[in-house]
Amino acid sequence: MFEEEVIGFFKRHNLYEEKMFMYLKDHIDMIDYNDEDLRVLIGTAYAVNKKNRKIINMRICIPYCQDEITALICIHEIAHGIYGYKKLNKKYNPLEIELLPMILERIYIEEKQSNNLKKYADFLDSIIDEESDEKYRFGLENRGSLEERDLRNFKSIDRSTRKLARRWKRNNR
Ligand SMILES: [Zn+2]
Repeated sequence: MFEEEVIGFFKRHNLYEEKMFMYLKDHIDMIDYNDEDLRVLIGTAYAVNKKNRKIINMRICIPYCQDEITALICIHEIAHGIYGYKKLNKKYNPLEIELLPMILERIYIEEKQSNNLKKYADFLDSIIDEESDEKYRFGLENRGSLEERDLRNFKSIDRSTRKLARRWKRNNR
């Protein structure tokens, strides 16, 4: 299910835990990316407790990993899964949820040095504008703000993310 390309990426970046990935595996549906009717299903949805706004469940839909583009999509969605897993039954900030996926996308593209991948990602960036949901604008603006030492593991990424989210809220009131 998780092709080595994608698993290897998370292992390299200290974001792989066996227990977590077992959980994610149980919450993933896979589709054929070549089937355009199915592509719209790709994404991650959190089920949230209405009373306390805590994440209680999730569903992740990714394509079978068949090339760089589908690997990139898997990395993005599994990053949503990791964030959701780490925040299970905890308070989370909806503003933050695109940041980790967007950071990891850039890291993967950097590693691959692929023009094709770069073009695809630039296109995704280009559709984010002032009308877009705040979480995308927050992600786009802040994905370059984390330094090497902030990217050590989920805990350090999360700490930096929360700091950036607080600053964003102050500046965008
Ligand atoms: Zn996303």
